[in-house]
Amino acid sequence: MSDTPQMKFTSLEEIDVIHATLHRSFKAGKLKSIAARKIQILQLAYLIQDNYDAFKAAFTKDLGRPTLETAFMELDATIGDCKIAYDRVEKWARTEKAPFTLNFAASNPVIRKEPKGVVLSISPFNYPVWLSLGPMIGALAAGNCFVLKPSELSPAVSGLIAELVPKYLDSDVVRVVLGGIPEATRLLELPWGHIHYTGSGRVARIVCAAAAKTLSPVSTELGGKSPVVVDPKCDLKTAANRIMWGKCTNAGQTCVSPDYILVQEDAQDAVVQALKEAHDRFYPSGPSIPNGFGRIVNRAHFLRIKGLLDRTAGEIAFGGETNESEKYIAPTIVKGVKGNDSLMSEEIFGPILPIVPVKDVDEAIAFINARDHPLALYVFSQDAAFKAKVFDNTQSGSAIANDTLVHCAVDGLPLGGTGPSGSGYQTRKYTFDLFTHLRSSLDSPGWLDKVFGSRFPPYTARKEAT
Ligand code: NAD
Repeated sequence: MSDTPQMKFTSLEEIDVIHATLHRSFKAGKLKSIAARKIQILQLAYLIQDNYDAFKAAFTKDLGRPTLETAFMELDATIGDCKIAYDRVEKWARTEKAPFTLNFAASNPVIRKEPKGVVLSISPFNYPVWLSLGPMIGALAAGNCFVLKPSELSPAVSGLIAELVPKYLDSDVVRVVLGGIPEATRLLELPWGHIHYTGSGRVARIVCAAAAKTLSPVSTELGGKSPVVVDPKCDLKTAANRIMWGKCTNAGQTCVSPDYILVQEDAQDAVVQALKEAHDRFYPSGPSIPNGFGRIVNRAHFLRIKGLLDRTAGEIAFGGETNESEKYIAPTIVKGVKGNDSLMSEEIFGPILPIVPVKDVDEAIAFINARDHPLALYVFSQDAAFKAKVFDNTQSGSAIANDTLVHCAVDGLPLGGTGPSGSGYQTRKYTFDLFTHLRSSLDSPGWLDKVFGSRFPPYTARKEAT
């Protein structure tokens, strides 16, 4: 909810010193041992646990988040990820044997899991703990040093992280750089073992172009318009609960938030009715009460989202109330929206959910395929053929039936986009893998040349004949 950053930004000179310090630490092998990595992961869990209430208050300041939502969507989730990494890092880091082949078995071919170096992670405002500390856990578990540049749009949480990291973690291996575009630009001029960027596609293009100049490997976790295809015959009450929850969490400022609904035209009003009932169950005293429903992060985003709503040619079925001084936008359903509407022009990233009526599931699939591959695609149906038809004929980061958002919490499922919704995979083991170099290795014994000596020139006719 803040407009002016309250935090002190890191100077450009200090950024150069941080870069040099962490590279020295990496070369010195500070996180070579698994034991050293585990100490940092454990400390990170304590950082959150010991300061739980301070984090809750910071989230209320930045995003007006209900404290319970902060607890389970960010704090508990990140502590849980620390525990998983702490318990499994030995297994993840274990050298892997290559599959047996007769020709090379004697050379003992293996894959060594090695850190990439110093990782730079640039994170967004919307989940400023999970999306900042999640990559930190994976990078440290893999033995990398780590520089975090959190968002300047969530200054209370970013400032708290910057204050606590040096108290809990080793400053030779982890640093936080506070700042906006100038600081991020300076960071991106430097070479890194890996650059991990989470945010908008617009900035991702700048990040990738900068990374190309230093040949730093990049992963991008982006967003887009995640559709929801509703089968009119589905359990509408359950669907409405789960769609509304996905839309209203963090006031719609979630990368995998349902962005729009596609449903057969004659079922549109039934869907609206079910969503209204879900809304009334969630907010019996109205959503605008404090600690009931999140706020938009800043005035610029508030005006952007309100502008999309003001320009829609669709019909507001319910909601639509806004309050600029509070950066409040009510959960809003807009029906009868067409493909060329303002609400379909960009990722909404706010609590407005347009419904686009279609003739049938084929038209829904064609509508999705005419646009960028989304980060998530949701289908609500109890009909296996309906679900398979949508999943088998579209592309998206993930394909989720009968729920929203929860796939990010499932241990063992990667989170990643495809095409314009991102590249690379994260969460838990996948974050470890993202920041791990798979270093091929073998040790070839001299006696092998007695068996495979024919590889050496001269390439005689006799050798060719055998
Ligand atoms: P953003 O792109 O505006 O900012 C993200 C980060 O980039 C911030 O730290 C910011 O300081 C930095 N940045 C801004 N301009 C920059 C520049 N010119 N050069 C270098 N760095 C720059 O994104 P946001 O508004 O904070 O987040 C919202 C977006 O992030 C949405 O599109 C959302 O879908 C996406 N997102 C994706 C995921 C995911 O996991 N895929 C998660 C959360 C958010």
